[in-house]
Amino acid sequence: MVNIFAEGFKQSKEQMIKSRMASEGERKYLIDEIPDYSSLVSASLRIPGPIKNNEDLSEIFEKGFKSFISDFDVKKRIFWDIATGPEAFVIVNSDAQIVKTAAVKFENETPLGEIFDIDVYIVHDDTLGPLRRADLHLQPRKCLICNKTAEECIKERNHSVDELQKHISDLIVNNK
Ligand SMILES: [Zn+2]
Repeated sequence: MVNIFAEGFKQSKEQMIKSRMASEGERKYLIDEIPDYSSLVSASLRIPGPIKNNEDLSEIFEKGFKSFISDFDVKKRIFWDIATGPEAFVIVNSDAQIVKTAAVKFENETPLGEIFDIDVYIVHDDTLGPLRRADLHLQPRKCLICNKTAEECIKERNHSVDELQKHISDLIVNNK
């Protein structure tokens, strides 16, 4: 089967750290624009290994995220299609709990949902904080490969990059 990771530019740890800081900066920048009872959706792909974006990943992200967000009243949307991975920042006129519940459902139940990371942020006392699965008493994120939690398998390095990439590539090829 085709390996979608044959395309794309390898990203270094430094590039990923810079990119994470840029995302954090973008979220902070948007704080003032988030009205009461609204929330900020910050989405990316959960792609292990050095290749974080290419034509397939970018297309899947755009298609999948647009379908997720179409259920909401969007106030502002920003899309980044950058080498460290596609990202979106969207302010929606909906309560964070409702948006997070829908995000978890999307991650758990749609065919490509397992490779999406949809975080939902709320403003509290002028600071921005994520609403976590645990806050809603929902199960933690599962590993892409086995039945343990994603956190456990990342910490224990239970799966090789090759194994994870193969899983994601097959998933994408089968759901295009
Ligand atoms: Zn695992």
